[in-house]
Amino acid sequence: MSGLDSVPLRDDLRGELPYGAPQIDVPVRLNVNENPYPPSAGLVADIAAAVGAAAGGLNRYPDREARQLRADLAAYLEANEKVDVDPVRVWAANGSNEVMHQLMLAFGGPARSVLGFAPTYSMYPQYCRDTFTHYQTVDREPDFSLDTQVATAAVRARQPVITLLTSPNNPTGTVLPLDTARAVLDAAAEHGGLVVVDEAYAEFRRPGTPTALGLLDDYPNLVVTRTMSKAFAYAGARVGYLVASEPIVDAVRIVRLPYHLSAVTQAVASAALAHADELLAQVETLRAERDATVGWLRAQEFSVADSDANFVLFGQFADRHAVWQGLLDRGVLIRESGPAPWLRVSIGTTTEMATFKQALLEVTATAVHGRVEA
Ligand code: PMP
Repeated sequence: MSGLDSVPLRDDLRGELPYGAPQIDVPVRLNVNENPYPPSAGLVADIAAAVGAAAGGLNRYPDREARQLRADLAAYLEANEKVDVDPVRVWAANGSNEVMHQLMLAFGGPARSVLGFAPTYSMYPQYCRDTFTHYQTVDREPDFSLDTQVATAAVRARQPVITLLTSPNNPTGTVLPLDTARAVLDAAAEHGGLVVVDEAYAEFRRPGTPTALGLLDDYPNLVVTRTMSKAFAYAGARVGYLVASEPIVDAVRIVRLPYHLSAVTQAVASAALAHADELLAQVETLRAERDATVGWLRAQEFSVADSDANFVLFGQFADRHAVWQGLLDRGVLIRESGPAPWLRVSIGTTTEMATFKQALLEVTATAVHGRVEA
């Protein structure tokens, strides 16, 4: 009898496993789209000072509404994305995972459905499962883009309460043209549905690629989610946020746990936002490294999906697990993600990418681990 058989777990959760990308201690970790750069000495000092200041008030609950942080997030978007954002339209939580979970709590539920476009982020079905919401997907095109007609027809036919558009999409790196976003927003509005554009990787997008933030004023049914985990190199701090119309923020406030965002989290998030320029300069370095990685992989005749994120989907392998294992044996951890012939590598430092490239060439030199025709 497994331990779980001895507890009255919900029937629908029997056989389920916790989220578990491997956390393996190897020299080169390129598997969960983390930013390879630790905070600078200056930022570490500011984080320590912010924690010190918050520490003196930890006998009290934090600001439930995280007003300072939401104002700082709005100011960051105004400065860097050239959009006008009122802080009341911003909402923050422990990672965009929690933001998304709160959205499902507020808008999902029995007899409601969420529509995503596969392959896409592996956590979406789990938020839905937890909130008794039906999760359905429609396939992306072979190049992982979204066909506007297919997407709008699916929204009209299935009438999901939330349509999830992930841009850049994980694990493919694909961005969404704004025309498609607008068409899906219009289709969803016909039945009163929301559209969530998950922009976790938005800061990594290539020049000229738009963000959905610019659509907010035209679409009260639009939610744009973002995170500090990637561009701000703050995955360990757990800070994500959304921007939407005020009623959507008010709906989320109903389901959030009281004081969900600790005073320490709020303080360290604001500390990092004050270093936005320095952190965005690192994003620039990672974007260049990403483009170089795409170029190198293509030069080695791998198939590579265009990427606007801090990771690259490449292949195609007859036995991707063997390639993944071969890399791991050489101290490089990447991710078995997306359709079976593909692997995903997160962008690390130039040194880490050099180790990855060398290991990949070694591993794919033998026929059994080799590539298949795209
Ligand atoms: N959305 C997407 C598309 C992601 O890939 C991730 C993290 N891998 C998240 C949301 C959640 O990130 P976090 O909770 O760290 O903000």
